[in-house]
Amino acid sequence: MTECLSETELLVMRRNGNEELVENIIPHETDYDSVELGDVVEIEEQPSCEDRAFDIHSRTGFSSGNIAAVVEDIFDETAIVRTNNGLSTVTRVPSHVSPGETIAVTAGWTYHGRLSDSPPDIDDLLPESETSDDYEWRYDDDISVTLEDIGGLDHIKQTIKEQILQPLDTENEELRETLGVTLSQGLLFHGPAGTGKTRTAKAVTNHVDGDLFIVDGPELVSKYYGETERQIRDVFQEAERAAETSGNPSIIFFDELDSMAPSRGQADETERRIVAQLLSELDGFDERGNIIVIGATNLIDEIDQAILRPGRFDTQLEFSKPEPEAREAILRISLKNTPTATDVNLTAVAEQTSDFTGADLATVVEQAKYLALQDGKESVRMEHLRISVARRKEVQE
Ligand code: ADP
Repeated sequence: MTECLSETELLVMRRNGNEELVENIIPHETDYDSVELGDVVEIEEQPSCEDRAFDIHSRTGFSSGNIAAVVEDIFDETAIVRTNNGLSTVTRVPSHVSPGETIAVTAGWTYHGRLSDSPPDIDDLLPESETSDDYEWRYDDDISVTLEDIGGLDHIKQTIKEQILQPLDTENEELRETLGVTLSQGLLFHGPAGTGKTRTAKAVTNHVDGDLFIVDGPELVSKYYGETERQIRDVFQEAERAAETSGNPSIIFFDELDSMAPSRGQADETERRIVAQLLSELDGFDERGNIIVIGATNLIDEIDQAILRPGRFDTQLEFSKPEPEAREAILRISLKNTPTATDVNLTAVAEQTSDFTGADLATVVEQAKYLALQDGKESVRMEHLRISVARRKEVQE
């Protein structure tokens, strides 16, 4: 993989992937001018500062390690392609290749060959996805967390009780029908990382005694590139099936929703298709019934507005970093099953931890427990919490 920088320099990518500037090179049996980007060269290793001879080894890059890429656009001999890792460019693409085709690309980002006339038809190519108990997105761990185990966020807990738990309560069924109350099925949790969005989704699942499906947005988009729409369809189907079996609603939690549904301006073709699939599932709510969809993001402004409209993710709840009182509550919750010494003053710890998220506070408590263990103490002391807070602050800086 080369780039000719001057008459005596080559920029190469070594087999191990490292880039290196090779200086003082002299062409061996090759004419220097004929070296092109993408060539594989053999370099005679010499002690540094001496001339190093090189030869062109092959014109097509490594044949091992080829990757598949879908051509998005092509000009001159360069193609813009999409791979599992996003967009890239490929050189030395012959003129007969056109957008939409899938090509094999060498490790040096040169064209290697054509794989197919069109992007793979995922539904045909891939085996049916798992629908058994080990279904990919199903959250299998026992969930014990309840809304009472969430510190602060009172307005969120209240909304969830009013709009989800109470309407779902079978005791309220008759009244609900009389009043014509519709269930809130699409919620958007937004706010910084570590503020309790996932924990709240788990608590909702626990309260309704349903099944939880956690779809990791970035993973869905990268790991299932080209297959994302089908994954979305599958997760809704699987959630529906689980709800039928259990008789309770299923929760689908789309974490980092912004990565799946960026606002239209930023979205590429694939992301538009994902949004379209998501919209069609969300709009099919009436028929589906027993599914509660929760999207989570810390980039609400970057989400496609279409999916925030009424009937979709229309209940938007803001998660913020906890105020002192909430911090104290989170510390207390995190220490729920841990003995604490009499000197522990959680109000004081809460005061010293401004700008901490719930996740930071949970980590502080975990660390304090380790410190107590190291000290051979049977309870967490104020000292342990203080050290742990100081360490967390260091990490944050
Ligand atoms: P997010 O989904 O917003 O990134 P999480 O729900 O995954 O955050 O929070 C990570 C951890 O932080 C939780 O498992 C919990 O231990 C702790 N935590 C965060 N917020 C709270 C909260 N409000 N109350 C109690 N614990 C919290």
